[in-house]
Amino acid sequence: MVKGIFKKLISKTFLWRPLKYINRHKCVILMYHGLTEDKSCDDWTQIHPDEFKKQMLYIKENYDVISISDMLDIFKNKKTRLHLAVVTFDDGYRSVYETAFPILRELGIPATVYITSNFIGNDRKDVRFIWPDYVRVLLVSSRLSTIDLSHFKLGNLDISDPLRQRISVNRIIEHLKLIGSSEKNNIISYLEEKSPGMIDHDLFPAYHPMTWEEVKRLSTSDLISIGAHTRNHPILSRIKIDELEGEISGSKQDIENRIETDVHDFAYPNGRMIDINDEAIEIAKRGFRSAVTTFDGHNRPDRNPYLLGRVGVGRNLAVDNFKLVLAGISQ
Ligand SMILES: [Zn+2]
Repeated sequence: MVKGIFKKLISKTFLWRPLKYINRHKCVILMYHGLTEDKSCDDWTQIHPDEFKKQMLYIKENYDVISISDMLDIFKNKKTRLHLAVVTFDDGYRSVYETAFPILRELGIPATVYITSNFIGNDRKDVRFIWPDYVRVLLVSSRLSTIDLSHFKLGNLDISDPLRQRISVNRIIEHLKLIGSSEKNNIISYLEEKSPGMIDHDLFPAYHPMTWEEVKRLSTSDLISIGAHTRNHPILSRIKIDELEGEISGSKQDIENRIETDVHDFAYPNGRMIDINDEAIEIAKRGFRSAVTTFDGHNRPDRNPYLLGRVGVGRNLAVDNFKLVLAGISQ
């Protein structure tokens, strides 16, 4: 509450402007996921198209919006360009192709789309889910009022209404991000077993993937570059070392084979410091020219190109707060 009032005050009194000036030599990289018109959607990662368009209009007016390739070039050659911004999307949701791309094209804004290669469908009927979305979809489809995960030290969780469902789902997902992949798969299998209800894919359009044809069409646009985001979206610090190569380099190969274009940039799934390890960074260095995280989104020109920071933009970020975040005030 106090934080909200404080931010409103900063916003209305233009106190954020000095911070924008202090950060003028840095490049802010924005991280989006998907877009949905569904106002009842409570998933932070899914932003309303109207809000997205307002944000794009704002950065076009107030920032020098460039591709990640241009940013790397500017940093490497120590060129002076002020107030740089880069737009990125993670995962490969269909809405990026259907909704975000027309807006970017209309405004002439470049972007990088990081693809989780095993998520992408062969055609529209081939609906797949990224595992955190799959957990959500399973529990929503289960029609259960509670799910007993005491065996996995998560307790008996209440999923009887949308609010409790959201709290419980988030708790499960955050737990799954912190454990090893075999234990994670055990819990997901258990959820599948306990949620035998048929999944109605039409109820979850926000979580649908692009098809390879759509990824390829995006890649042929001058505005869009395709990056890699692993094959299965694992937390890289939680999987076995011998699985890292396949997830990181393998996703690059999968995408290159499908779209017949070289892939140069990588995004670590979940992207916090605890989600990454030295081995993953080394593999990224061998196969890519850059890799993005999800922390410290304002990048100085001397920033390690394999630990680039990003600022996450979600549905809680209306344009007033968006401009503060761009200037350098944390959410
Ligand atoms: Zn992701």
